[in-house]
Amino acid sequence: MSISTSILEELLQSLPHLRPQLYFKSSLTALSHAMEDQVLAVGEQPLVIASFQRERFYRQEAHRYLRISELTSQVYVLAAPETSFMNGSDHYETIAFEPGDQLSQEWHLVVLGKQYATCLICRERLKTAKETESEPMGMDQTRRFEGIWTFDRQVSCRAAELLLDRILLYRPDLADKIEQAKAEFLTTIPSQKQEIDPDPFAQRLVTHLQAGQYKLLKAYRSIAAKERKERLVNSITAAIRRSLNPEEIFKVAVQELGQAMQVCRCILYRCKATDSSTTITYESRKSSAIASLQGQSWSLQNNPLFQSVVQSQEPIAISNTDTEKRFDLTALKGVIEQGQIRSWLMVPVVYQGRLLGMVELHHCQATAHPWSDDEIGMVDAIATQLGVAVIQAEAYANLEDLNQQLEALERTRSNLIAITGHELRTPLSTIQVCLESLASEPDMSPELRQVMLSTALADAERMRTLIRDFLTLSRLESGRVEWHVEPLSLDECVELALSSLQARRSDTPLPQVTSQVSLDLPLVEADGEWLVEVLSRLLDNACKFTEPQGRVTIDANLTNLNSSRMMEVTIADTGRGIEPNRLETVFDRFYQEEGALRRTTGGTGLGLAICRQIVVGLGGQIWAESDGRDRGSQFHFTLPIARSSSDTVGVAPRLPSRISDDTPYNGRAPLKSKK
Ligand code: ADP
Repeated sequence: MSISTSILEELLQSLPHLRPQLYFKSSLTALSHAMEDQVLAVGEQPLVIASFQRERFYRQEAHRYLRISELTSQVYVLAAPETSFMNGSDHYETIAFEPGDQLSQEWHLVVLGKQYATCLICRERLKTAKETESEPMGMDQTRRFEGIWTFDRQVSCRAAELLLDRILLYRPDLADKIEQAKAEFLTTIPSQKQEIDPDPFAQRLVTHLQAGQYKLLKAYRSIAAKERKERLVNSITAAIRRSLNPEEIFKVAVQELGQAMQVCRCILYRCKATDSSTTITYESRKSSAIASLQGQSWSLQNNPLFQSVVQSQEPIAISNTDTEKRFDLTALKGVIEQGQIRSWLMVPVVYQGRLLGMVELHHCQATAHPWSDDEIGMVDAIATQLGVAVIQAEAYANLEDLNQQLEALERTRSNLIAITGHELRTPLSTIQVCLESLASEPDMSPELRQVMLSTALADAERMRTLIRDFLTLSRLESGRVEWHVEPLSLDECVELALSSLQARRSDTPLPQVTSQVSLDLPLVEADGEWLVEVLSRLLDNACKFTEPQGRVTIDANLTNLNSSRMMEVTIADTGRGIEPNRLETVFDRFYQEEGALRRTTGGTGLGLAICRQIVVGLGGQIWAESDGRDRGSQFHFTLPIARSSSDTVGVAPRLPSRISDDTPYNGRAPLKSKK
């Protein structure tokens, strides 16, 4: 038996004045419950027919129908069976209609009492493609029905009749009972209209409306919270992504996160899972009244929270460090006291399972702060973004590094071409000519022989110097030099450079060289070997380009460069000077005023290029000044001042303590400790 007629359609056909309306599922639920409550409240013995689309919808209501069936024997419940619903006559009549029956698309409830009659006859309206697209999938509340809901007795009777006839098709065994129902409820019109109490119906309806409103409110709240979270994550992410510098990324992240989460303190540190300790590098505080932890060194090895985060790669939230039970915080007592940490949130910055750092939020007030899932989720989302940003920044830095290495390689290559192209060719030709002459002319006078030999030896030495300087510059340019930076006394380094100069130039008259470097100056932060190398080269040049009657002076003063305090060292001479348009060019590789072939002073033309590489590598700058030809030159360079030494003027100077092959400047006296 397959029945394809719709009860609603039949009703509309027989009562054409009816105009169906649209109802949301939630409205139908509210109306049905209100109608059922009215049956229970009025207490008479009405005819009740309820048709559910599915057995499972009926199951939620079964208990109510049991209660209704205690009032009246004329209760019929129809449903499309799914598991156990079947035809039966237990407490009330159950009618299992076929799933193909139009009833499975419909929702009916008819109540025919003596005092009142009401019915709800509706059919589900399937959604259009557009509606399905615009409404979230699976949202039951958005299902729509069209049909009639009324207190009109005539309509209710007709609906009851249609439904009873349908029931009869499935349950012919109920013919007598149905006949009796028809006779009792469909034919007798109440003689006089009696007042019924509308309260239970209205109450129920209002309760439903209220419940619906609460649900809406909850949904709004959760959407608003989600939106707030998304906006925050986006704004922090945008701030983070603006930079490719991990330092800047972390700085921005602690600031923004601390502010957005309104915590007392937000800290961030880089760490690996295997690290035994870390330094708190980045911090933001709500106010200066909150103790700062920045710069502190924390043990990670003995930190049970850190170890647990490393294991689980999940955040840890502690709302009250005083009453914490899951973790033994004994080892963290000092940290907790110092940072006055009451509530603690620890979120790892992880990328593809690799721990990159840790974000921590602290509340320091007396009352504990229970961390909400939303808060934890938000910090976690930002930590994820941080992980990505850091990896991107690192990748970029690697790329830049690679780029720099390539550039350095390219410079080395062009240096090599230049050096072999003409710098080496000249001395090599001279050596060859001298040696050939010596070999082919056995009768050569001993004096001439000596000249030939000395010339060949001098040019061989020149070649050696050239290759050594070339290799030094290449190493500096390719960044392969390891700097051993330490606080140093500038005066000591100048002395070492001076004695090295005298050892090298003992056979030539030198101009008068004086050091005016004050002993009271603070220590500088530099690598002693390389600093002496720069001083030696600049002093060498000054002596080389100044007549023996001239003067060379070394001076040093404190200066402010780009808002940081630096030491400025000046080596001035009264020698031949430099043309204004050459002041920058002199630092180019192989630059020599006389040109390579007319060299009178020796030298390789690489000295100032080496000096610039060293000074820049130590964090300073170097430049030349001169009033022009024959008006002397001044070479200036800056160095950072040792951090601790700005307060320790006059402290016994420390000497470079290491001698290595890194600084192979020719003829330089080895550095000796004066201690
Ligand atoms: P070099 O081995 O030729 O001295 P440098 O790189 O040290 O190579 O110097 C490059 C050139 O800069 C020198 O050849 C010279 O022309 C010029 N120069 C360097 N120092 C001085 C100075 N103190 N006075 C005048 N000219 C200088």
